[in-house]
Amino acid sequence: MTVSFGGHRALDGVGLTAEPGRVTGLIGPNGAGKSTLFDVVSGLRRPSAGRVVLDGKDVTRMGPARRSRHGLARTFQRLELFGRLTVRDNLLVAAELGPDRRVAGRAVTGILERLGLREMADTPADDLSTGASRLVEVGRALAVRPKLLLLDEPAAGQDGEETERFAALLRSLADDGTTVVLVEHDMRLVMSVCDHLHVLDLGKIIASGAPEAVRQDEKVLAAYLGD
Ligand code: ADP
Ligand code: MG
Repeated sequence: MTVSFGGHRALDGVGLTAEPGRVTGLIGPNGAGKSTLFDVVSGLRRPSAGRVVLDGKDVTRMGPARRSRHGLARTFQRLELFGRLTVRDNLLVAAELGPDRRVAGRAVTGILERLGLREMADTPADDLSTGASRLVEVGRALAVRPKLLLLDEPAAGQDGEETERFAALLRSLADDGTTVVLVEHDMRLVMSVCDHLHVLDLGKIIASGAPEAVRQDEKVLAAYLGD
């Protein structure tokens, strides 16, 4: 797919596939086009060429709300929580956008448990650490019971312990059959959880494959040195 801002191609003929039950990593220097790719997949931005296929269905012309009903959820690099609402209410608001409102309450309790947020359930989002806020963002995405989960730098601001717990969560989501796409700068997290890695630089995929091989690719090393 291709996306242009003015004359500048933020994404230039990028193609990638993410498989169910796997964590697919997407890395690259700042400005490479990672968040723009998520915008296109989640329906916030139309590509000037190319298409988005979800579970065999072409969703390129669908808006974000319909894509979310088809099982797509994402988090944002910039946190977008309701600051005055409690952690539980932030999740409930998201859950009610999901397929079954009646199970929202129970589902939210399960997600709080899974993310280790139970003790913070009644805390207003504004009072959380950045790391905990990131987990709540992920919880909001999980509340719609996604088949495809797009995570934009979810570990930024997490401490080591939070990141370790987060890695285990990503593995268990994949083991449950969720398709996870992870944009992340924390290379330890990327290397420990990703089954497959793509590297984006200046709007193009410059390397793809097994994480260990990709990390040693000369084009990848050069792209990061120029950052
Ligand atoms: P990344 O997430 O990899 O850091 P982005 O997708 O945010 O990169 O940005 C890719 C490129 O597109 C950058 O050159 C950025 O300046 C440009 N860009 C992103 N959003 C816009 C926008 N709304 N208008 C103009 N240029 C944009
Ligand atoms: Mg970004």
